[in-house]
Amino acid sequence: MQQLRQTLGAMQDWKLRVTHLIDHAAREHGSREIVSRWADGSETRTDWAGVRHDALRMTQALRRLGIKPGDRIATLAMNHHRHLVSWYGAVGVGGILHTVNPRLFDDQLEFIVNHAEDRVMLFDKLWAPIIERMKPRWPTVEHYICYDSSEPALHFEEWIGAEDGIAEWHDGDERDPCMLCYTSGTTGNPKGVLYEHRSTMLHALSAISPPVFGMDCRSVMLPIVPMFHAASWGLPWAGAAAGAKFVYSAVNDGAVLCDLMNREKVTCSAGVPTVWLALLQHVDTHNGSEIPPSLQTIVCGGSAMPRAMIERFMRAGLRVAHAWGMTETSPIGTTGAETANWNELTFDEQVTVKAMQGRPPFGVEIRCVDLGDPEKVLPRDGVTSGALQVRGPWIVKRYFKADADAVVAGQWFDTGDVGLIHPDGTLQLTDRTKDVIKSGGEWISSVELENAAVGHPAVAEAAAIGVYHPKWDERPLLVVVTKPDQQVSQAELKAWLAQHVAKWWVPDAVAFVDQIPHTGTGKISKKDLREQFREYVWDQVA
Ligand code: AMP
Repeated sequence: MQQLRQTLGAMQDWKLRVTHLIDHAAREHGSREIVSRWADGSETRTDWAGVRHDALRMTQALRRLGIKPGDRIATLAMNHHRHLVSWYGAVGVGGILHTVNPRLFDDQLEFIVNHAEDRVMLFDKLWAPIIERMKPRWPTVEHYICYDSSEPALHFEEWIGAEDGIAEWHDGDERDPCMLCYTSGTTGNPKGVLYEHRSTMLHALSAISPPVFGMDCRSVMLPIVPMFHAASWGLPWAGAAAGAKFVYSAVNDGAVLCDLMNREKVTCSAGVPTVWLALLQHVDTHNGSEIPPSLQTIVCGGSAMPRAMIERFMRAGLRVAHAWGMTETSPIGTTGAETANWNELTFDEQVTVKAMQGRPPFGVEIRCVDLGDPEKVLPRDGVTSGALQVRGPWIVKRYFKADADAVVAGQWFDTGDVGLIHPDGTLQLTDRTKDVIKSGGEWISSVELENAAVGHPAVAEAAAIGVYHPKWDERPLLVVVTKPDQQVSQAELKAWLAQHVAKWWVPDAVAFVDQIPHTGTGKISKKDLREQFREYVWDQVA
């Protein structure tokens, strides 16, 4: 053994487990505040030391319930400090934190909670109707705990209030799982991505670095990205490593966010383009309102950030970090980091750089391969586009409970995105191969919309595509060929679809056409269709 240690090197055993993050935050930045602004306007203030103490109490409370390492602990909640406490409390017991997206519809909620075999469900009172509805369909959930009320379940504060916080975190392997996030794909059931302590820790260290979020203990971060979305971009872990102050809002309204940012002197905030648009609209429509002057960095991702928005923030003197990533990539893949020649670029050229998806930080490798021949790696010439693949220590290898790996030879994961890489390494996304539409940061399956549409007796063929929408980034447009001598109105078709899919999935418009383009193999050519409707203006369609 002594011999072996020498061959391994002679440094200390310090496992890359995420509980070290909260220990560090509490020890070195214990009084740095964590502010929660609730829906009723009231606020709660705690700090990193308080979060750690409560997380330890939650760990004790979970042990008392018989929760064991490896068990799944679910949350169904907005952004607030109790939710943050639960992240660390769940991993503290050696459990796997499963953040559930309340915007999913019932069949998806049923699937993921059963697939995850969640034993505990922590939720906001706001989502009590979901809990009541889903309880009979979630047989694995043994314990329900409500964050903000003693009705209809045990109150979180009372639950952890019975404990003293004198406890130890569970100690396991750094490759143990710590978090599970589901991603809803094109067809079929959502897939779970199982993050490890090690992968999460490495991701957090990368996240705070200057080319990514650039956070330190002076930062005041307001994460608009929900804690149930792609691990909130890793911010709850990264923020602890940095010792940043956090400001959480349970409401993502432009007025509320501006007010909070001004009062708490927020320096950095992260969200999808839709929320930034709402904030800018608020600024534009309220006299005397301005982009909060304390803001220094805007992290925007989840969908392409529109050029005009980038320009607007940059003109206001802000640093824009336009990030690309996926649930499968923890989620940081690339960020709109400044290039080596940044200072020599004109303002317009700088905006052009930021409008692309940027470069990978250390730890992520990207490449594009030929769409028809995945063995053929494409040159980084800024013109040849292909399927984007990615690999690294925080990229998925195999989906939770899957029988086979999700990567091809060389550990490369196919992202379903299409893009090109410029000679300086900047990634530019141009399309996607996966059949999905991303609306306000949430996925809509084109295939399921099409299946529902062709179920209508008058529809011969239907294709759903995402078309640029100024508010939601993309909204579904349904392109339909009707059967000969059959007619159906847009309103009838929408009403039909509303019976089969979630309301927010229903296409905003239906375009009736004589024919839909097909590929050589007879499949609907989404690429051609997207091209055909690229300049589409929403209210022009009947
Ligand atoms: P999700 O797993 O829900 O986070 O979705 C990941 C997907 O969102 C990616 O594969 C892209 O299709 C899309 N996406 C994320 N960030 C960007 C971006 N900056 N620009 C364009 N698409 C993006």
